[in-house]
Amino acid sequence: MDKEKSELGNGRILLVEDDFINGRIISRLLEMDKIPTDWVKNGKEALDFYEKNKESVLMVFMDLQMPIIDGYQATVELRKNGFDRPIIAMTANAFSDDQVKSAEAGMDDFILKPVSKIELFMMVEKWLNKERRK
Ligand SMILES: [Mg+2]
Repeated sequence: MDKEKSELGNGRILLVEDDFINGRIISRLLEMDKIPTDWVKNGKEALDFYEKNKESVLMVFMDLQMPIIDGYQATVELRKNGFDRPIIAMTANAFSDDQVKSAEAGMDDFILKPVSKIELFMMVEKWLNKERRK
């Protein structure tokens, strides 16, 4: 295990995305940057993952449109269950009310899809490092 990886301890990013291509790209980019990442495919899986790994989830990237439980509902439930770390919405619609609705659901920030490498790492820098300094 290298230095950067051990620096996060058990900490990890939870990626919640039902689209296989987006999920694979984003999880690979994060792993390439030595950030342990768990990828789940809908809001229900995200809630289950959080139940089992409460302390280790440092930050969440959350798709909005997903089957079973969508990103808004998953965020509301995560907040109800005590998750107080950053949740970043991922939206494909720059000009919709997604951003307002995601903020109302309890998300901290948003990123546009398709997610670019530079924007992804800007979000990690902005929110994960803030979390680690606490
Ligand atoms: Mg989706």
